Amino acid sequence: MKGVIAVSLVLALCAPLCGGQAVTELRGAWLHGRECKDRDAADRLLDRAETLNLNSLFVLVFAHRGHAIYRSEMVPMLDGIEEGFDPLGYLVEEGHRRGIQVHAWFVNGSYGWGRQEGILDERPEWRAMDLRGERTDWYDLCHPEVREWQTRLMCEVLERYDVDGVHFDYIRFNDRSVCTCPSCRRNAMAEAGLDIGALTYAELPAYGALSGNPLAEPTTAEVLAEFDDGVPAIALNRVGAGQVILLNWHVRRWCPSVVVTAIQRALSSAGVGQGDRVFLLDSDINAPRYGRNYWRDRPWVESLGYRVEKTTDEGIAQLPPGSPVVLIGFYMMNEEIAAALLRHVEAGGSALFIDGPVFAMKHPSAQALLGFKRMGKYFNDQRALLTTGAAPQIVPSSDRPFSIAAEAARHALWDEWRKEQVTRLVAAVYERAWDIRPDALVTAAVFYNEGGSEGVLQDWPRWHREGICDYLIPMSYVKTPEELEKAFAWWKGIDPDLARIIPAVGAWNIAKGSPPAERAEQIRRQVEVCRRQGARGVVMFVLNEIDDDLAAILGPAAFPGKAIPYRPGAAAGP
Ligand SMILES: [Zn+2]
Repeated sequence: MKGVIAVSLVLALCAPLCGGQAVTELRGAWLHGRECKDRDAADRLLDRAETLNLNSLFVLVFAHRGHAIYRSEMVPMLDGIEEGFDPLGYLVEEGHRRGIQVHAWFVNGSYGWGRQEGILDERPEWRAMDLRGERTDWYDLCHPEVREWQTRLMCEVLERYDVDGVHFDYIRFNDRSVCTCPSCRRNAMAEAGLDIGALTYAELPAYGALSGNPLAEPTTAEVLAEFDDGVPAIALNRVGAGQVILLNWHVRRWCPSVVVTAIQRALSSAGVGQGDRVFLLDSDINAPRYGRNYWRDRPWVESLGYRVEKTTDEGIAQLPPGSPVVLIGFYMMNEEIAAALLRHVEAGGSALFIDGPVFAMKHPSAQALLGFKRMGKYFNDQRALLTTGAAPQIVPSSDRPFSIAAEAARHALWDEWRKEQVTRLVAAVYERAWDIRPDALVTAAVFYNEGGSEGVLQDWPRWHREGICDYLIPMSYVKTPEELEKAFAWWKGIDPDLARIIPAVGAWNIAKGSPPAERAEQIRRQVEVCRRQGARGVVMFVLNEIDDDLAAILGPAAFPGKAIPYRPGAAAGP
């Protein structure tokens, strides 16, 4: 634990609310630093923080495809910042003048969004690599060079700026994603005796953590592969002169290389070769509930080797004869669209469904198109994918020895190894920060429930236990005080006094769309839950979305008077 530096140590003994005296309470908010483009914009946000009586800001200083909002020797400044203006430098100086701590918030896992090219475009080998061997938009936190680089990056801020701390975010994997890059293969073998190459599955059987909305009861569809509980996994339905391929789960998330081969071979048998055009459906019917996946999913389809064009619900009837259409996470098809797709396929076209179009299965044309009778049961767990022996020319399989228990054990080992890699980054930053600036705090935004943390291999209870974070901020973005109340049980199992766990409140999303007074009241109730449970403060997401009207009501209601920022003050260094 960090040393005893703060004046607030003694004050920290004071309960969060001590009547009229100054209280010690962390009153924080995250702040998107990119919106502090110039002095005026920064001042407006600082004014708002003061209106709210906040004493700590966590300013996003690094994300945006490798761009920063401060002066760095290592990464370029984000576009759109006023020439000569240093947002972080200004926020630290002006924030401190106003009695507000400023922590530098880093996005560690995700490369982020934007058009500018950055570090991962220069160093593509630092991108995590999925099961198909494709590079992703995530930093490979298992790569020792990436960890060293991020450690230097976070410590550079501690050397150059008088920030009160550095803050991790996205310090985790994306869902249960993996990395199969050469560095990981080498290191997992050397450190854990684990052969990652065997877990990319060029042939069936395969095994992994997967989820899906499957169809059940095939009628005319031929099942080419199934899950270990007998649910169809890959099916082919020949309709008229065309064919429909169904991958009966969220393949986009867990896609071993055997699946890529199966897709390519199935489309190839329908005359669609590599480099050929496929149409990706962007559906208005599906969008209100499931979003516009077309944009998100296009790179995924392109990485299978096809040229992607967009089509729409109405566009299906006008597709070029014989052309392939790809439908990803497409659940809300109506009879009219199903009938148009059926006609297109009967005339020699092909369709590739990724995840079962479950809510469409009441329509006769959808049943005829897919060759299935009804929807099955949603699943989200670890399971094996086995060959049925049908169509070996499409789905490659091998008769190598395969045991689900042995496979599960290897995956568990892989999970443990990856968890350990992320923990190493946290520990490295903590140790080096201690050398550079022992007064600075190292904190992290983390998943707020056990299942969520486990699902992204974020072992923050260990970071807490080993003292490699000064405090953790679980992102408990729930809509009601009752839901927030429930989250405390797990946290108190980790830290009974909540000395180093500071809850977050998802202010941007609470009573969204209601008048400011109603929003303020609902946010205040969540802040009160935190106090009643004994939390030493609260961090709100996100200052940019708490507008001035809301802030004017919320400040006096939820955070009356001034407060000294809480900081945990325990034993010695690392
Ligand atoms: Zn890797």
